[in-house]
Amino acid sequence: MEKPENQLLVIFGASGDLTKRKLIPSLFELFLRRLLPDKFLILGAARSSFTDEEYRLMQKKGIIESQGKRLPEEREVDAFLELVHYFSFDPSDCTQYPRLKERIAGLQLEASLPDNVVYYLATPPLLYKPIAECLKKNQMNKSGGWRRIVVEKPFGTDLKSALQLNNFLRSAFGEKEIYRIDHYMGKETVQNILVLRFSNGIFEPLWNRNYVDRIEISATETLGIENRGKYYESAGALRDMIQNHLMELMAFIAMEPPAMFDPESIRDEITKVFRSLHPAAPHDVIRGQYTEGVAEGENVRGYRSEKDVAAGSVTETYVAMRFFIDNWRWGGVPFYFCTGKRLAEKSSEIVIHFKSTPQHFFTGECTGTSCNQLVIRIQPDEGISLRFGLKVPGAGFEVKQVSMDFRYDSLSGDTLPDAYERLLLDVMLGDSTLYSRSDALVASWEFIDPLLREWESAAKRNLFFYSAGSEGPEEGLALLQKTEECCGKCGEASAVNDHDEVFSE
Ligand code: NDP
Repeated sequence: MEKPENQLLVIFGASGDLTKRKLIPSLFELFLRRLLPDKFLILGAARSSFTDEEYRLMQKKGIIESQGKRLPEEREVDAFLELVHYFSFDPSDCTQYPRLKERIAGLQLEASLPDNVVYYLATPPLLYKPIAECLKKNQMNKSGGWRRIVVEKPFGTDLKSALQLNNFLRSAFGEKEIYRIDHYMGKETVQNILVLRFSNGIFEPLWNRNYVDRIEISATETLGIENRGKYYESAGALRDMIQNHLMELMAFIAMEPPAMFDPESIRDEITKVFRSLHPAAPHDVIRGQYTEGVAEGENVRGYRSEKDVAAGSVTETYVAMRFFIDNWRWGGVPFYFCTGKRLAEKSSEIVIHFKSTPQHFFTGECTGTSCNQLVIRIQPDEGISLRFGLKVPGAGFEVKQVSMDFRYDSLSGDTLPDAYERLLLDVMLGDSTLYSRSDALVASWEFIDPLLREWESAAKRNLFFYSAGSEGPEEGLALLQKTEECCGKCGEASAVNDHDEVFSE
């Protein structure tokens, strides 16, 4: 496997949760797999005061916790941690950057590193602008080698703020130097959508409006908002899950085959999908909020009683929506998104429902709706299932729906790599295929923004409540037309669509 060029990784916000739980453990895994550059150092930077040794000790705990039962060898952890250094400074104060610049230069000299630096912004989003500005002011955005900057989600809170953030970043870095991360894209099954579609000849002829009846993309959680009330109050399910994760999944499913398998060709196709989205009709978008209930056997409080949530909050914790893509491949095929917190089941999956046979000869299952679904599971286990009808043994011709299952971990003797492992390796290699490009991001916000505006003007009228631990509000289930033969985790969409009417709106 290709190894990245020698380089330095600077993590801003390095005293935080993301760094400890995800970034450092993923870098450790890359170290174990011998995928880090031959010469490589990590510099964590944040306001908290730590010596290098204290910081390493804190990260050691994170690595051990992340490994679960697979206890890593201590000498391996210690050898990895020798690559890790810490620098205490305030990232919002441009006058402190010359010290950071000096520390970077010192480390580069010590380890004979070329002037190649990745800046990873693992800070609250309000710091993205000052960090980009300060890097530019101190000429730390340019180098004799290269610079890359990784920006965590959320990338803006609406179209206007996303455009502004793009402008700030673009004033300091070129588009090819900016990596907007969405950790869903690092999941094996998500990348596998591209391989499934573009390395197999059997799916492509069916992958269109002639054979596909509808597509559901869902991400449901049993957990509530935990201690993230402050963040969630300003986000809500539409921004937190749909604008980024679910839309990226949808783009991989809906895109045309790229001209070449390179980052720009793939991102061109993703952008085209977003630009082809038909504005969602307000009655096709249902938002909900959980009230108290029983989740996984425990009594849990409602959203409005969670910590840091306003008593009369109208923030949505659930969204079900139906929409269409105005292009030749998908015109008239309804796509469904469904996401929510404190729902009955934890699951992320894509269900492609194929059209029914024109005649139904047999009894049993598959008589009313199609028996054929391709299910791409992302959580809790990554895998793919193909469902079809077969004859029940014995007299007559009774049909039962059966499933051919593939679990993705059966391809790997080891556990599956964490999404961050793949994405960190890609940015070190300079491969932006799985990162969002600015034009795609803007197009996705152009689709989402009118819904936010609509909700702002009718905040209370359009909010439906559901008990924690249930399948969501009735209005959402009605939109998804849940039936007994439900397949998708948010309910099965109607077999009879009124999409032609909506498509021509
Ligand atoms: P934290 O809230 O833990 O913040 C990270 C660090 O940023 C803190 O330790 C703090 O370090 C520094 N910081 C916080 N506020 C300020 C401030 N006002 N001025 C200067 N520094 C500040 O964030 P996370 O680690 O949880 O997440 C980082 C980013 O990643 C966020 O944008 C988040 O949305 C995103 N993200 C996080 C995920 C996660 O699982 N945690 C998952 C997906 C995305 P110090 O006080 O030492 O300066």
